[in-house]
Amino acid sequence: MECFIVEKDNIDLEKHELVLAGDEAHHAIRPLRIKTGDPLLATDLSGVCYQCRVERADPGTLTLICSIKEILPNFGESKRNILLIQGMIAQPSRWEFLLEKGTELGVTSIQPVTTERTERESFNRERSERILRASVKQTKRARIPELRELSSFGMALSDAIKDGRRILLLHEAADKSSTLSRSTLTTDEAIAVAIGPEGGFSDSEVEMASKSGAEIVSLGPRRLRAETAAIAALAILIDQ
Ligand code: SAM
Repeated sequence: MECFIVEKDNIDLEKHELVLAGDEAHHAIRPLRIKTGDPLLATDLSGVCYQCRVERADPGTLTLICSIKEILPNFGESKRNILLIQGMIAQPSRWEFLLEKGTELGVTSIQPVTTERTERESFNRERSERILRASVKQTKRARIPELRELSSFGMALSDAIKDGRRILLLHEAADKSSTLSRSTLTTDEAIAVAIGPEGGFSDSEVEMASKSGAEIVSLGPRRLRAETAAIAALAILIDQ
């Protein structure tokens, strides 16, 4: 069953009806050939999916009128709230790969940060948001990850502390006895996981994080690229 994005204003819960319009309807009617009677999933991107049946597909106005069969709160969402604090990655294609895979794995929020060793201090927000939206549809989840404004690592750390998150900083040189493991986590704890940029975190950043209460953890004996480390960590941390 395909998944589409529905604008909140186009959902009428009293009538058990929603309307797909614009690009979403175009995509459904033209390449996907969705027609009257077909089932589909629609997400409002802020926590609810709707299981629907197409009642009318109008190629002229490019609209799909759908009846809502079931409301699915938090469909496809992880039970654990995970904030990814990510040292900005220099190469845009690697940054975009990370956005896509992070969304597939269920990340809740992404906080790009500048660190002592970041080589890039910006990202294309519009393009990044487009990748997140496409990945939400592909993945069939109810919520789009929050993509925060770029901030300093120190600022992101203090925000995570204020929010009461458990902070895990992934460091290649961490003691191998402290390897990231699902068994030390509880379902309802909110986590911030920090990954360095290509050059890693500096010793002073690791020390600052550690003094602020972060746990310095390893992902094993191999040095992973920043985006691989993020994906590997999320795969361990996400609670299905
Ligand atoms: N030489 C760099 C360093 O000193 O950390 C390597 C940086 S690595 C390419 C980018 C980031 O991925 C690191 O800052 C860390 O957060 C994460 N990372 C990569 N391999 C890791 C490992 N084996 N254990 C923990 N974190 C790792």
